[in-house]
Amino acid sequence: MPRSPLDLTTLAARAGEEARPSGSVPLAEPIYQSTVYAFPDLEALERAMSGEEINPFYYRNGTPNAGTLERALAALEGTEAALVAASGMAAISAALLGVLQSGDHVVADARVYGVSYALLAEELPRLGIHTTFVDACDLEAVEAAFRPETRVLHVESLTNPLMTVPDVPRLADLAHERGAVLSVDNTFASPAVFRPAEHGADLVTHSVSKYLSGHSNAFGGVVCGRADLVAAARTRLTRLGGTMSAFDAWMTLQGLKTLGLRMRAHSGNAQAVADVLANHPRVRAVYHPGLSDHPQFHRAMELYPNGFGGMLSADIDDAPAFVRALAGRIPLAPSLADVVTTLSWPWGTSHRALPEAERRRLGITPGLLRLSIGIEDIGDLLGELEEALEG
Ligand SMILES: *Cc1c(COP(=O)(O)O)cnc(C)c1O
Repeated sequence: MPRSPLDLTTLAARAGEEARPSGSVPLAEPIYQSTVYAFPDLEALERAMSGEEINPFYYRNGTPNAGTLERALAALEGTEAALVAASGMAAISAALLGVLQSGDHVVADARVYGVSYALLAEELPRLGIHTTFVDACDLEAVEAAFRPETRVLHVESLTNPLMTVPDVPRLADLAHERGAVLSVDNTFASPAVFRPAEHGADLVTHSVSKYLSGHSNAFGGVVCGRADLVAAARTRLTRLGGTMSAFDAWMTLQGLKTLGLRMRAHSGNAQAVADVLANHPRVRAVYHPGLSDHPQFHRAMELYPNGFGGMLSADIDDAPAFVRALAGRIPLAPSLADVVTTLSWPWGTSHRALPEAERRRLGITPGLLRLSIGIEDIGDLLGELEEALEG
């Protein structure tokens, strides 16, 4: 009888353990810091170049470390293939350019990551590809935005910073009925809490600099998905030169080993912090899918049985004083997903390009702070947050 599939925690911990020749081998994968590979004869070179054998030959086409990371991430997202890239944006660009050509149309959530928004709103139109932005939680609006030439629906599984939760299974049906592919940026969730491909997504992208690596010390991106779509993205990425470095691939593999453990801690801690903040008089609003007043609470509980990762936002009375009171303990840093808790300020960073009225319309106020909750002891964390709120 075939063994039951391994748990994500096990798959992640074993990431990077490849079948190697017999004899003693390094338990930890070495870094392959070579830009080119030497071949014994023309036949061996031909087999590598034709793709008949998977053999590295030139760095821009992919290093052994990138290959190991790709196999690990495809296994974690449950997709046929994966392609790593120099950044999250390189991965998203390659994924979209793999599908789209001049004259095509995209429907995207208006809440997508700011640079993804700029890619769709300012870069792709230069190539004759146009996007209609909608609220992806409003299925009627999504449906109405489709045109005969719509090829991609692009959304995020959990959005920044208000943690809305689009209905990925319904969006997948909507896209497929109209001959389009569903692309989901899964950066905020990670495959430990949500696997979009299991719900019909064709392309799943990440900034691996966030939860997948998890320690703010590796930089890169990934596209996971159907083999044909990943192959098309690989051709674009290789020609545009967005190769991930061997060192970043290797660092990401180190971080990935603890993904299952980290995400359990991030999710539990974030839920506890959300519950406490929601009941504090100095906190005007808390945005976390595990709170019963969240607009997609029921859908979120159905789609995310193991928690929501570490992200939440809170609108806090006198936010500048709160940030000052946390100085030296919880840093203000405009990224996310580190093992330590960090704060960020959407009004002045991720959303500063939007006109003030538009920021307020979206619910992004000057007092809104985004918390990326880490894996610290929850008693210590709640003590520090409560002390800063009293201060
Ligand atoms: C950080 C981020 C990106 C961009 O990734 P980079 O690695 O910075 O290029 C894309 N989407 C989301 C949701 C992100 O948080």
